[in-house]
Amino acid sequence: MGQKADIGLIGLAVMGENLVLNMESKGYTVAVFNRTVEKVDRFINGRGKGKNFIGTHSLVEVVDSLSRPRKVMMLVKAGQPVDGFIDQLIPLLEPGDIIIDGGNSHFPDTIRRTEYVESKGLLYIGTGVSGGEEGALKGPSMMPGGSPEAWPLVKEIFQSVAAKVEDGSPCCDWVGENGAGHFVKMVHNGIEYGDMQIINEAYHLMKTLLGMDAFEQHEVFKKWNRGVLDSYLIEITADILGFKDEDGSPIVEKILDTAGQKGTGKWTAVTALDLGIPLTLIGESVFSRCLSAQKDLREKAAKVLTGPTPAFKGDKEAFINDLEQAIYGAKIISYAQGYDLMREAAKEYGWHLNYGGIALMWRGGCIIRSRFLADIKKAYDKDPQLENLLFDPFFKDSVEAAQESWRRVCATALQNGIPVPALTSALTYFDGFRNAQLPANLLQAQRDYFGAHQYERIDKPRGEFFHTDWTGHG
Ligand code: NAP
Repeated sequence: MGQKADIGLIGLAVMGENLVLNMESKGYTVAVFNRTVEKVDRFINGRGKGKNFIGTHSLVEVVDSLSRPRKVMMLVKAGQPVDGFIDQLIPLLEPGDIIIDGGNSHFPDTIRRTEYVESKGLLYIGTGVSGGEEGALKGPSMMPGGSPEAWPLVKEIFQSVAAKVEDGSPCCDWVGENGAGHFVKMVHNGIEYGDMQIINEAYHLMKTLLGMDAFEQHEVFKKWNRGVLDSYLIEITADILGFKDEDGSPIVEKILDTAGQKGTGKWTAVTALDLGIPLTLIGESVFSRCLSAQKDLREKAAKVLTGPTPAFKGDKEAFINDLEQAIYGAKIISYAQGYDLMREAAKEYGWHLNYGGIALMWRGGCIIRSRFLADIKKAYDKDPQLENLLFDPFFKDSVEAAQESWRRVCATALQNGIPVPALTSALTYFDGFRNAQLPANLLQAQRDYFGAHQYERIDKPRGEFFHTDWTGHG
C-alpha cells in the first residue's frame, strides 16, 4: 500500500462522516470503515470523492492502512457495539497503538474499557464529542480522557479539528484519566438539559402570564442574546420562535409538548445522587421532561384539577427584565452545581480535572457554548481550587444582583400556578447553600426517635454521637 493514513475511523453515520471530513480538511488522511461496508463505498464515491480517504472493507484493512502508532477511532452506537469493536481490534493492534471511542459512552464503561485495553498493552481514549452534526464538520468541542500516554499522540489531530474561541484556543484539551472525558461530556449534557429547561420556563411565563405570542418572544430572545445570556441556546430559541409554518403562524405552537431524552441528563442526575451532590436544577430538568411525556395523564388531570387562572398585573417590560435576571441567576446555580459534581467525582475517581480548561472546552463548538463560560474560565484561572463557583467574587456579585428579580419571577409564577421547577429549585438551593443553619437538627432527632440513628450535638465535639430515649420506653 502507498500512503498510510494518520487515523482510522469506524462508523460512517452522521457524526463519523462529518468528523472525518473535518479531519481531512485539516490535512489528515483518514482510513474509514463501517459495519455495513456499502456505506464506505457510498461515502468514498459521494461526500468523500477526490479527498484523502482510504476506504476499507474490513478491520484488518483499516489497521494495515495506518501509520504507527496506530490510532483507531470509533463513532458508533454506544454500548455493546463499542465493546464488540474493541474485542475485534485488540488482536490486530500492537503495543502502543490507541483505540479511541468518540461516542456518547457512559463513563463507568470507559473506566472499565481503559483498564481492559491497557491490560492488553494498548492505549485507550474515551472522548466526548459535542456539537452534533455541524460541530463534527466545522469544529466540535472535544473532551478526551483515558490513558495519559495517548494524549500527546492524538493532541495535534484533536486540537486541529476542534472548535476555536476568538483568540484561537482550541475547545479541546486533556481532561483526565480513564473515564474523565466521558464524565465531563455527561455533565455537559446535563447542563444542556438545565439551560434548555430554564429557557422553556421563561417561554412558558411570557406565553401564559404575559400573553405574548412567539413572534413577540422572538424579539425578546434576540435582545437577550446581546446581553449576559448571549449563547447558542438563546440564539436558536430566538430563531425557533420566529420561524413561520406554511400558514404564516409560529411553527413552535404546533409541536406536541412531550419531550424526548436519550439518557445523558438522567445519568448526570443519577451520578449526583450516587455521589451525594445537590444537583437540583438538572434533576428538575430531567423530571420536567418526564412530566411532559405524561401527556395523556396531564390531559385527564387538566379536566379535574384546578388552580389559579394566570393574570398579570404590573409592568410587562419590567417583568421581562426580571426574567432575564432570573434565567441568569438560575444558570449560575446550575453551573455551580455541575462543577460541584465534577469536584466530587474527581475526588471519588482520582482525576486531576482542570476546571478552567473544561470551561474553555465548552466555550465553543458545543450546545452549551456561551459568553458566560468565559467568566467561568476566568474564575477557575484565578483560583484553580475554587470550592464553589458562588465563592468567586464575579459570580457572587452577579447572583446577588439577580436575586431580587429572580424572587419576583418565582413568586409571581407560583401565585399564578405556572410551573417553574428549575428557576425555583435553583433559588431554593441558593437559599439553602447560604444558610449555615438548616432544619436538619429536627431531621436527626426524627431519625433518632424512630430508628435510634443517633445525632451529634452542637455543644459537644463533632464525631461524638448521642441517643435520646424519646418515649421513655427504653
Ligand atoms: P449512531 O446512529 O449512534 O450509530 C450508527 C453507527 O453505529 C453506524 O456506523 C452503525 O453501523 C454502527 N452500529 C450500530 N449498531 C452496531 C452494532 N451492533 N455493531 C457494529 N456497529 C454498529 O451514529 P451517530 O448519530 O453518528 O453517533 C455516533 C456516536 O456519537 C453515538 O455514540 C452518539 O451517541 C454520539 N453522538 C451523536 C451526536 C449526534 O448529534 N448524532 C452528537 C454527539 C454524540 P451500520 O451503518 O452498519 O448500522
